[in-house]
Amino acid sequence: MKTFSIKWKIFSYLLCFCALLLLILWLFQTVFLDAFYRQIKMVEIKSNATIISNNLDNQSLTELLDSMSVSQGTDYYIAVLSSDGSTIAETENTRNGIPPDQIKDLLSKIEDGEHTEYLSQNEPAKKNDFNFNGVPPSHDNQMQSIIYLKQVNSKIILIRTMISPVNSTVETIRCQLYFVTGIMLVLSIVLAILIAKRVSKPIEKLNNSAKVLAKGNYDVHFDDSGYKEIGELSKTLNIAATELNKVESLRRELMANISHDLRTPLSLIYGYAEVMHDFPEDITPEQTQTIMDETQRLSSLVSDVLDISNFEAGTQKLKYGVFNLTDSLKITTDRIAELVKKDGYTVSFHYDKEVTINADEIKVTQAYYNLLINAINYTGSDKTVTVNQIISADTVKIEICDSGEGIKEESLPNIWDRYYRIDKNHRRAVTGSGLGLSIVKKIIELHGGKYGVNSKPGEGSTFWFSLKIG
Ligand code: ADP
Repeated sequence: MKTFSIKWKIFSYLLCFCALLLLILWLFQTVFLDAFYRQIKMVEIKSNATIISNNLDNQSLTELLDSMSVSQGTDYYIAVLSSDGSTIAETENTRNGIPPDQIKDLLSKIEDGEHTEYLSQNEPAKKNDFNFNGVPPSHDNQMQSIIYLKQVNSKIILIRTMISPVNSTVETIRCQLYFVTGIMLVLSIVLAILIAKRVSKPIEKLNNSAKVLAKGNYDVHFDDSGYKEIGELSKTLNIAATELNKVESLRRELMANISHDLRTPLSLIYGYAEVMHDFPEDITPEQTQTIMDETQRLSSLVSDVLDISNFEAGTQKLKYGVFNLTDSLKITTDRIAELVKKDGYTVSFHYDKEVTINADEIKVTQAYYNLLINAINYTGSDKTVTVNQIISADTVKIEICDSGEGIKEESLPNIWDRYYRIDKNHRRAVTGSGLGLSIVKKIIELHGGKYGVNSKPGEGSTFWFSLKIG
């Protein structure tokens, strides 16, 4: 479907609106004007007839008729007739009175107590020169008048008034309307251009910036001047651009980190494999252990990357089941504690009572494992890590406390972002892809749980997550 620019849309809507307005104006000013005028006159005549009918027995009926006629204008003739057509009372102004034979004719036409007749009369007005045709006349140079008869008991009220011809008025209005149409047309074009410019300019600006963003330039800024909605959209787009920028720089960092992390174990493995190949008899258990350790490191790195990509693609589904969380975490803690014992680390797990939850056991254990490994990696010189299980109401909270350097306040909101690492200078002792915490975050979020960290530089860190019991 062909789409039009906002400029043209506004212009066409405005034009349609003007056309409609003009059409209504034309209809009312020209076509309906005559009918309106007659309608108003008729209402006026009928109300006068009612007043007269209430005063038929009044002594000063003639004065009333005269005063009514004077207030309505010189061509306003009123008469009260008897049923045979003879005049009982009439206005002084009989100039346009109706001859008796025509009065008889009119009286015979009374139906349901009243009769209305439109008369056309060629100018100048002459007595006895009436054309009784019953239809509103419309010729230009004809005088028009209305005769209204109302029967009250045996008396008939007759009111006759001239209608000033509206044709000349209509001509003037029509002529004016040509001008008005022209002016409106020009105005609507000018207005449309102005409005369209004001409305479309900020949108065009946004679009241009969005095009720059689409090309991968995330430093683009969206101008939030203009309208409230445009301002809000710009703000959202600015946030999106900042987020994209962040992700992009983190992604670049990850690539650098991962390639570094891959290269080191790979070259170690290759080196030892070469030794094994060339001097198989010289191989030591330490060397084979290094190969095994480095392979382990590589595979955990690869599985981290795989996990996060699964979470992000939304393909990771949880396998819910009821299990003993305390038991599960204790087994993991004991296993890790055993592994790191030889390096002097002490890992202890504290709990009041065992608790069961309905969750994905493998994933929850993985989240816990990531936090525990981080705590061991980052703990201080006392090499101690403490885990607490705290039960409150319907939730269970797991706290993993270390005595390390802690985390600076400005880094706290970022550590849960994928690929984020505080220590940009790669330290061999502390390996990691920067994915561990974002995996924790995803797992706990998928379970509808809460997570967080309390940390101050120099005071160690306490990472925690909480899940619903049952
Ligand atoms: P990594 O694999 O690099 O540890 P994580 O996502 O697990 O990635 O952690 C992100 C960053 O948060 C780490 O690089 C580290 O700087 C910081 N961090 C995580 N756990 C701790 C901790 N217990 N003490 C201090 N810093 C931590």
